[in-house]
Amino acid sequence: MYDYDLLVIGSGPGGQKAAIAAAKLGKRVSIAERRDMMGGVCVNTGTIPSKTFREAVLYLTGFAQRDIYGASYRVKSEITIADLLARIRHVIGREVEVIRNQLLRNHVDILGGTARFEDPHTVVVGGSTRGEHVTVSSEKIVIATGTRPARPDEVEFDDDHIVDSDAVLRLQRIPSSLVVVGAGVIGIEYASMFAALGTKVTVVEKRPQMLEFCDPEVVESLKFHLRDHAVTFRFGEKVAKVEVAERGTVTSLASGKKIPADMVMYSAGRQGVTEELYLDKAGLSADARGRIAVDDDYRTEVGHIYAVGDVIGFPALAATAMDQGRLAAYHAFGEPAQQLRALQPIGIYTVPEISYCGKTEAELTESAVPYEVGMSRYRELARGAIVGDPYGMLKLLVSTEDRTLLGVHLFGSGATDLVHIGQTLMACGGTVDYLVDTVLNYPTLSEAYKVAALDATNKIRAVQTFGG
Ligand SMILES: Cc1cc2nc3c(=O)[nH]c(=O)nc-3n(C[C@H](O)[C@H](O)[C@H](O)COP(=O)(O)OP(=O)(O)OC[C@H]3O[C@@H](n4cnc5c(N)ncnc54)[C@H](O)[C@@H]3O)c2cc1C
Repeated sequence: MYDYDLLVIGSGPGGQKAAIAAAKLGKRVSIAERRDMMGGVCVNTGTIPSKTFREAVLYLTGFAQRDIYGASYRVKSEITIADLLARIRHVIGREVEVIRNQLLRNHVDILGGTARFEDPHTVVVGGSTRGEHVTVSSEKIVIATGTRPARPDEVEFDDDHIVDSDAVLRLQRIPSSLVVVGAGVIGIEYASMFAALGTKVTVVEKRPQMLEFCDPEVVESLKFHLRDHAVTFRFGEKVAKVEVAERGTVTSLASGKKIPADMVMYSAGRQGVTEELYLDKAGLSADARGRIAVDDDYRTEVGHIYAVGDVIGFPALAATAMDQGRLAAYHAFGEPAQQLRALQPIGIYTVPEISYCGKTEAELTESAVPYEVGMSRYRELARGAIVGDPYGMLKLLVSTEDRTLLGVHLFGSGATDLVHIGQTLMACGGTVDYLVDTVLNYPTLSEAYKVAALDATNKIRAVQTFGG
């Protein structure tokens, strides 16, 4: 007889949802987490702080209102790092409380400390002081230990002049100029937020482009917008070294260029947090990036041990981690469940934000699927004018064979929420005609769907009219 039916390691979105799902099935559940990290990277250093940082920046700078009130509009003229961090601390505190309460009211035991395997069914959870640890056994185990920022060996991080995305939340000041190394999602999100704050940002990326998985037109719009806010892009460039002096940093590129800046932020990928787990004692291993391999049901090579969330790799989103946790728990206890993997939405909280779901034009062209594009620009929507967003856009990709929706791509206000209309329609196998025929609230940004649907159907009709 084991102490628990399920032990979860890590209380990020994946771990939490696994624990709650199993508890709802009437199982005896515990969750191990380091004492100061309830809610995981998601709540403490990743999603929630960065999205709150963004919201604080947008509010205090008045950035989103400047198309209406003019370029000099500000809510607060001298914004300090304390103004931004105060809001973040408030939101983190609230979220931690909500999660702790959810776990406790579902009778999930919270074990404080770092967990490590003793054998495939036994885990030791160490407290912060020596000798303070518990040993527990469990029939099933879910590993949801997430990732941490990868720190290149040759870079001397000091949490002051050279930082990673975790250290952003410990900053002592808003940098007047910033080099962001790596134009992945996290790097480009922070680049756009600091640009909105008035920081002069240079993005250095070794690849020739950024966000290649997104619609190129959307990425072009983002680049145009960021350049307009004094962001400089250095694509296809490698950082050779970063020197720190009293007054700032100098980043030297392999091409010989030198970039002076107040601060350098590395966003060079993430590493699975698996070193402390003693995976070998459970018969498991991780790859060079600390990732654990799983099958379609999130089972590792040891049948009763599951892994979910960032520790299993792509897409490494809180949104997916939550569902993986729930599905792993359901699978572990024989509860039937369905997965909708093909329709995973992607949300990128740059300023302005990006979101999409379904196929891209490149994917459809590659697989020779005929489609038509329906476009809507926010500047032609009454709501776009009301909220002061003249740059937003929505693009629908519509099958010319059966008129189903194949993809939806958004840029601008509300993109990460609006995408779900297209996602739902695609999941239900709906056609573009639903969007043409349905009545939507007015004035809304959702109206973009109807405008884009009319655009796509008019183009399809034009082909038929021309005899194609
Ligand atoms: C800056 C940033 C912005 C992001 N923005 C978004 C976004 O906008 N939308 C989105 O969907 N995703 C976003 N993400 C990604 C998102 O945060 C992750 O996908 C998500 O947190 C992964 O959840 P997880 O369940 O894998 O665990 P994590 O949230 O990574 O948490 C893992 C937990 O496991 C604990 N742990 C590790 N080892 C042990 C051990 N041995 N014993 C006990 N506990 C342990 C850690 O302390 C940690 O608390 C962002 C990430 C970052 C860094």
